[in-house]
Amino acid sequence: LSERLSGVFDRLTKQGALSDEDVKTALREVRVALLEADVSLPVARDFVKKVQEQATGQAVTKSVTPGQQVVKIVHDALVDVLRGADDPGNLKIDNPPAPILMVGLQGSGKTTTTAKLAKRLKEKDGKRVLMASLDTNRPAAMEQLAILGVQIGVDTLPIVKGENPVQIAKRAKTQASLGGYDVYMLDTAGRLHIDAELIQQAADVRDVANPRETLLVVDGLTGQDAVNVATEFDDKIGVTGVVLTRMDGDGRGGAALSMRAVTGKPIRFVGLGEKMDAIETFEPDRIAGRILGMGDIVSLVEKAQETIEAEQAEKMMKRMMKGQFNMNDLKMQLEQMIQMGGMQGMMGMMPGMGKMAKQVEEAGFDDKILKQQIAMIQSMTKKERANPQILAASRKKRIAAGSGMQVSDLNKLMKMHRQMGDMMKKMGKMGKGGMLKQAMK
Ligand code: GDP
Ligand code: MG
Repeated sequence: LSERLSGVFDRLTKQGALSDEDVKTALREVRVALLEADVSLPVARDFVKKVQEQATGQAVTKSVTPGQQVVKIVHDALVDVLRGADDPGNLKIDNPPAPILMVGLQGSGKTTTTAKLAKRLKEKDGKRVLMASLDTNRPAAMEQLAILGVQIGVDTLPIVKGENPVQIAKRAKTQASLGGYDVYMLDTAGRLHIDAELIQQAADVRDVANPRETLLVVDGLTGQDAVNVATEFDDKIGVTGVVLTRMDGDGRGGAALSMRAVTGKPIRFVGLGEKMDAIETFEPDRIAGRILGMGDIVSLVEKAQETIEAEQAEKMMKRMMKGQFNMNDLKMQLEQMIQMGGMQGMMGMMPGMGKMAKQVEEAGFDDKILKQQIAMIQSMTKKERANPQILAASRKKRIAAGSGMQVSDLNKLMKMHRQMGDMMKKMGKMGKGGMLKQAMK
């Protein structure tokens, strides 16, 4: 999918501004991407419409291509929709003992998430937590929570046979007060599907406990169905946030977008595995990248970091600053320029290089020239590449012929190499705070 998207965007790279047609083409693919990521159809449709309005006619930033710009607009709009709370990981747990109610369908990960959050509250916030299982349907569920409690060192309410969920909730409240707990967490029973009895039970527990937070646990792999579940629970019980589990799986996270768009409830945490540490605060840009299936292709800088292996770059930089800049270095640079979207793209990213980028642009410098230059370097022998100063007329003729170029082209390349070498040396002399060094950070 991301291949198809970048294909579309590649085709857009040659133009200068975002035309209606550019935007439409790109957004058609974005819409498909959203649907493939399990975003519900109306949500995807609305979203694309909104982005289309934002994107059309927008000027293209110099250092990025129109395609990348569309992606950035889409990405930012996704983040916008997904962002529900400024500080999603911050649970309301003042006024101890603060009740937290966990609701959701059976198998969504309520019990696991209850324990994960309890561990987090204990370790990160230094809270004393009591956990209680209200799952009277399945005795094994109560055992499950007790076992997790032992594992993470968090107390669980002793199991008393024959109690109903409301009685357990009351006992948990009393125990939490008497025992001096900061938080008590109520892990409710679930069903495979929403039914009236399940909802009624959760509502009764809510009325007894008066929870500070009611977290709806939703399986992130369930896609559109998750939205119905969320709407129903929110209407009947009232939820303060959503936890998306199984985000470690192959799911694209489209449920997150649908859920935000339809219910307006903030996603607070994501579950990333079965282990007790596998939970993280919800980060909209991560999910946005995942939904688009392309990570953060917006940032040229990050792309540059990917392209240049940091170590290699630093080594090269050190040598260049000492004035040891040979044809192998130049070749590597030229290759990286192509990978990073051409000379202009790269120079535009480096502070202080804006002017040079302009000159390059005016000179009509493009990938074709870069490739020709690489070809010339490839026609040099090892020795010539390492010591370009030995290039006498006869060698030049051979190299030009070997690469299908003129000697004058080779001379231009050598001049550029010399100039770059000189510039590097100067920058090196500017010392530790030199701009090139900073640009490489
Ligand atoms: P409950 O019925 O809602 O209480 O669900 P459980 O907490 O018992 O979880 C059901 C299954 O899902 C268990 O095997 C959990 O280990 C697993 N599970 C829960 N959360 C996650 C998660 O974030 N990732 C993965 N891979 N598995 C999870
Ligand atoms: Mg359970």
